[in-house]
Amino acid sequence: MDNKIRVRFAPSPTGPLHIGGLRTALFNYLFAKKNNGDFLVRIEDTDQTRYVPGSEKHILDSLAWCGISPDEGPENEGKHGPYRQSERGLVYEKHISMLISNGGAYYAFDTKEELEKERKLCEKEGKTFIYNASNRLRFKNSLSLSSKKTKELIENQNYVVRFKTPEKREITCYDVLKGKVVVDSLVMDDKVLFKADRTPTYHFANVVDDNKMEISHVIRGEEWLPSLALHWLLYDAFGWKKPKFIHLPLILKPTGKGKLSKRDGDKFGFPVFPIMWKNQGKIIEGYKEKGFLAEATVNFLALLGWNPGTDKEIFKLRELEVEFSLKKLNNSGARFDPDKNVWFNQQHIQLLSESVLAKFLEGELTKENVLYDKKKLPSIVRLIRPRIRLLSEIFSLSFYFFEPPKTYNEKALKKLTDQKTDLFLTKIVALFSDLKVFNSKNIQNTLENSAKDSSLVFGKVLGLIRLAIIGELSGADLFQTIELIGKKNSVKRIKDLASFLK
Ligand code: GLU
Repeated sequence: MDNKIRVRFAPSPTGPLHIGGLRTALFNYLFAKKNNGDFLVRIEDTDQTRYVPGSEKHILDSLAWCGISPDEGPENEGKHGPYRQSERGLVYEKHISMLISNGGAYYAFDTKEELEKERKLCEKEGKTFIYNASNRLRFKNSLSLSSKKTKELIENQNYVVRFKTPEKREITCYDVLKGKVVVDSLVMDDKVLFKADRTPTYHFANVVDDNKMEISHVIRGEEWLPSLALHWLLYDAFGWKKPKFIHLPLILKPTGKGKLSKRDGDKFGFPVFPIMWKNQGKIIEGYKEKGFLAEATVNFLALLGWNPGTDKEIFKLRELEVEFSLKKLNNSGARFDPDKNVWFNQQHIQLLSESVLAKFLEGELTKENVLYDKKKLPSIVRLIRPRIRLLSEIFSLSFYFFEPPKTYNEKALKKLTDQKTDLFLTKIVALFSDLKVFNSKNIQNTLENSAKDSSLVFGKVLGLIRLAIIGELSGADLFQTIELIGKKNSVKRIKDLASFLK
């Protein structure tokens, strides 16, 4: 299937997945789904010195939490496997030999010390050391040495394989978002493709695998744009058809200045990992643990650098799979706005069914050892739902339905009470106790009438009763809250305030 859309997310397991990486994965995934294509995950773990245990699992679990499921990957191998570069050694051996024989790459025997000496010399003159067509014949490599000497060194010495960058030439590459990118080959290094330990470098393994895995579009972060020219030339050196390249604009700090970093999370108080990251006994909570919904996190990230072309902001993953298009990607950096992030979460919480929220609340109540009447939970969550910004707030927003206030807001108490308050509260206790049908409508009528009878401002009465029931002036609709708390408990709370005032 020649024209099938195939994209990949190719993380290096050098630490936890952060939201920038998650966005790259998401855009790849959405593009594949939109076009009936395949989304692959490939673990780029050739650099064992940077390998962090637990990282691959964190990456895959984070994607799974978001519902971004690969069509092919290390956990569900397809016909292009293996999907971990550390397991693909033979593929790279074969392809580096191909490149050496067709003249696209060469052996280099220079030692670290020799190269360091050259680098220092250049630095002294204020120049950057570069190893390419301008000077490679001065060094120890298979281009400068005889084939006899080369053979001898291959057998007896460490060597690397370098890319033979074409001599002075303008390399014209294309990026779907940026357009034409022109690089002068004179400023390009003959990059090492194969290291002395016979493992490939990122550039080589990445290009070989994209070709072997039949990747049609490379969608990755803008930080890889400087590598584009080298990758372009590698495709040419192999005589391979190139994929289309799309380098995604950066995610910017909340201030709009500079690239968003992991440290900004601490600074501005938002998570930077999708799910919890545990490392050496230290636990860093992710979006999930902080009370964000996966759907909301995905929705928020999708709109960082992409727009649907309409005013619509709230999308489920399935809707994004239909709407997404590369044409609507922005070409400039997208500012990360932590408040907007929470706003998206709040909107998605409103879309959850009462039974889902009730179940979640039930879990929290059990954790907190609070007694509850299961039948009332759906009504309670319906009342508090508009206020829930993060799932983790659900208990603090609802505990007064289950427990009487432990304290009263002092400022409010001072403002709302006087010598006559006690008498008034006693009257309400009597009226509430007499109510045959204890529902919000009757509760409201009772309070309205008694305010009139005692010539009190209704707002003040509401404040006072709210204080008795909740202990604060905040909370959900008062009449419905009182109905849900029930006659017996509400009367008791009002009596409690009266005795507290004495
Ligand atoms: N392994 C690279 C990374 O960690 C992949 C870059 C690419 O997508 O080509 O970002």
